[in-house]
Amino acid sequence: MAEQTKSCASTIPYGLHGNCYLNITSRCTLRCAFCPKFNGRWGVQQYGLRLYDEPSADDIVAAAGDLSQYNEIVFCGLGEPTRRLDVLLAVAERLCSEGVRIRVNTDGLANLIHDRDVTPEFAGLVDAVSISMNAHDELIYNRHCRPRHPQAFSAMLAFSRCVKEHVPEVVMTAIDGLPGVDITACQGIADEIGVAFRRRVLDVVG
Ligand code: SF4
Repeated sequence: MAEQTKSCASTIPYGLHGNCYLNITSRCTLRCAFCPKFNGRWGVQQYGLRLYDEPSADDIVAAAGDLSQYNEIVFCGLGEPTRRLDVLLAVAERLCSEGVRIRVNTDGLANLIHDRDVTPEFAGLVDAVSISMNAHDELIYNRHCRPRHPQAFSAMLAFSRCVKEHVPEVVMTAIDGLPGVDITACQGIADEIGVAFRRRVLDVVG
């Protein structure tokens, strides 16, 4: 997550770090205690990210505009993009044809909420997936992420194993400094799954 703003305007694309981020939903599967939106703030830097209406694939592509200036397109807002899997994939397919690199930042719960393995659908459309592991065990994960689904932690790990078969770059992340989170153990889990690991800093979008 990122620096906060008091802006209340809704934003679909927003530029950070040379990337174009796409904010396609405000809905989440988790209710993370550290999330700005559960602490009364909906902003990332100067951008207001609360969406009152969810944009269509056409809306998103039109809003994104000329993407030639960006390093990559990242599906990431203050909501879980795979909640709108069909829209995400439709937009990715259209942007793919422009030759841009596409990343999805996700909670890794898409297979759980869609009740099937959706990861083959990413093949050929998504270049990279960043999965929020957030903790090294279920107890600490549940404390920070407050999932509605009791199997969320194990589902996130299972998703990570599946998606690496279909997407060239998979990174699992955890936020350093959250109480009880053992970053070294998180790294060990990513190593065991066979994907990369990145330590995150709270309130910084990546
Ligand atoms: S998954 Fe991300 S956007 Fe959703 S509640 Fe957690 S931190 Fe917030």
